[in-house]
Amino acid sequence: MVAISSWGRLGSFEHEVAVLYDRHQVVPQLKSSRAGIAHGMGRSYGDVCLNPDGVLWQTTGLDRFISFDQNSGRLVCEAGVLLRDIQRLVIPHGWILPVTPGTQLVTVGGAIANDVHGKNHHVLGSFGDHVKWIKLIRTDGVIIECGPDFLSDWFAATVGGLGLTGVITEVAIQLRHVASPWLDTETVAYANLDEFFHLADDSEADWEHTVSWIDCVSKGGRGLFMRGNPTDVGQRPEPKSRKLTMPFVPPISLVNRLSLRPFNMTYFNLKKWQAGRSITHYESFFYPLDNLMEWNRMYGPKGFFQYQSVVPRAVGHDAVQEMLKEIARSGDGSFLAVLKTFGNRQSVGMMSFPQPGVTLALDFPNKGNRTLKLFERLDAIVHEAGGRLYPAKDARMPRNLFEAGYPRLSEFLQYRDPGMSSALSRRLMGN
Ligand SMILES: Cc1cc2nc3c(=O)[nH]c(=O)nc-3n(C[C@H](O)[C@H](O)[C@H](O)COP(=O)(O)OP(=O)(O)OC[C@H]3O[C@@H](n4cnc5c(N)ncnc54)[C@H](O)[C@@H]3O)c2cc1C
Repeated sequence: MVAISSWGRLGSFEHEVAVLYDRHQVVPQLKSSRAGIAHGMGRSYGDVCLNPDGVLWQTTGLDRFISFDQNSGRLVCEAGVLLRDIQRLVIPHGWILPVTPGTQLVTVGGAIANDVHGKNHHVLGSFGDHVKWIKLIRTDGVIIECGPDFLSDWFAATVGGLGLTGVITEVAIQLRHVASPWLDTETVAYANLDEFFHLADDSEADWEHTVSWIDCVSKGGRGLFMRGNPTDVGQRPEPKSRKLTMPFVPPISLVNRLSLRPFNMTYFNLKKWQAGRSITHYESFFYPLDNLMEWNRMYGPKGFFQYQSVVPRAVGHDAVQEMLKEIARSGDGSFLAVLKTFGNRQSVGMMSFPQPGVTLALDFPNKGNRTLKLFERLDAIVHEAGGRLYPAKDARMPRNLFEAGYPRLSEFLQYRDPGMSSALSRRLMGN
């Protein structure tokens, strides 16, 4: 048994870890096992990738590239390959992953199971929109190959399927063409939510990537809006990668009431002063947090939660304002707070998180009951607004909010593999 935690470090749980390293041996491995769940890089914040006292199928051993067609941009790889390794392989050949989350240290299987989104949802949707086929292995040994055009119901259940339809071993992804690893970017400060929504609307047509940092302790909801477009700037030296590591777990969270307000004020004013246009390398623009390895330790031994919601656009302004008020009143929160809009498009997956609207994501140091009480107040706002929470970030949402937010749940359950079970599935689906 091995003690494993997820990114939020809310607890460390004993697991029987079975490493998958040969895709041709996955059938016998699954057939001879008790119930389990696939585990990629464990970059999910809560319990979607955990199965305390049960089996974890560790997929990072399935890390082989199978084929890459440089003319069409079609990549076939095993599901444990990291997005970082794909980017490094394909960008020099003029291709890039169309959609990536805020860290590239995740596996392809994890990106599909949570149907992750990036900063360009309004243009290119989510990760699953670019997957051409999946090879899925069920715990009874049945192999299912599915894609958007064949066995599309299995595909829609598996994209965003929280790892519960089987273990994905192989995947084909359609990359998109890119002229260079650089982006033309701009940072614009905004004073309140009205300005945020104006900027988001104005940017949708001309900017592929949009995201904003929001100061969760400010009264009006000020922040910094970042937008970017791929650009061709010819040859430039790659920036030197300077990776630091959070060296230890501090005895208390470094993010607290004393540090948050001054940090946010300094950060906002500094960035406002530096705002404007620049040419930015894709790694700094897409994955700024990857430069500080193990930054999740800064929240101390009790770990942290992330609360990520999406609410429909029509009620988005009011719902976000109410949530920010509750958070400001609580004095909690973190400088890691993101506000962005999703485009007006439906997701491929039955259980995919993205829906048209506005999404707010904030980290909170774990202060026990006090934090959970705050979440209950935020849940009520999300529920009332007709929104949903993101299971990839969740460790505590109540079942009624999950069921209300995911109306295709009962359809999805028909595709579940009875041999797959996670802490999240037991919490929210009963088994
Ligand atoms: C700093 C940071 C920034 C992030 N930014 C974003 C963001 O911008 N957008 C976003 O959408 N997410 C974001 N995330 C969340 C992250 O992208 C997802 O949680 C992702 O799914 C993690 O992938 P993983 O390989 O670590 O998978 P894990 O966390 O280990 O597992 C996630 C899920 O995938 C399943 N799974 C993994 N491999 C397989 C497989 N081979 N077959 C079947 N199921 C499998 C697991 O069972 C589990 O249900 C961020 C996370 C961090 C830490």
